[in-house]
Amino acid sequence: MSDLADLYQEIILNHNRRPRNEGELSPCNCRSEGYNPLCGDRITVYAELDDDSTLVTVRFLGEGCAISRASASIMTTMMKDLSREEAFRKITAFSDMLTSNNEPEADLEILGDLAALIGVRRFPARIKCATLAWHALGAALRGEEKHEE
Ligand code: ZN
Repeated sequence: MSDLADLYQEIILNHNRRPRNEGELSPCNCRSEGYNPLCGDRITVYAELDDDSTLVTVRFLGEGCAISRASASIMTTMMKDLSREEAFRKITAFSDMLTSNNEPEADLEILGDLAALIGVRRFPARIKCATLAWHALGAALRGEEKHEE
């Protein structure tokens, strides 16, 4: 089990060191500034939707702890080419995974790098770090320019 914990930590550190899709997107049709006062994480999420409301590009920029940045990085890799509705479903599913009473199966094969974030459940104070970018994307898609965890 500790090998798995090490692997999950490695995934998070890797995304924090070499984030995917980091950088401003300008112009873009929606963006939202996410803030988590509990930890001080500030992550702005940018999304570009095409005429069919498909997310063609999702990027983020911000300062925060390793969990908030890794989660933002992982989130951007999972949202590309989803419809707006699919993106909302994924945001809700992720949020539920971290906050529901039922322990989800942290299956690396099914969830990929996302499995690493399930470990955050054991540290309730850090859950908002993990959900920040996801909720900021949801806010952006609803046309809200700011989101606070
Ligand atoms: Zn944080």
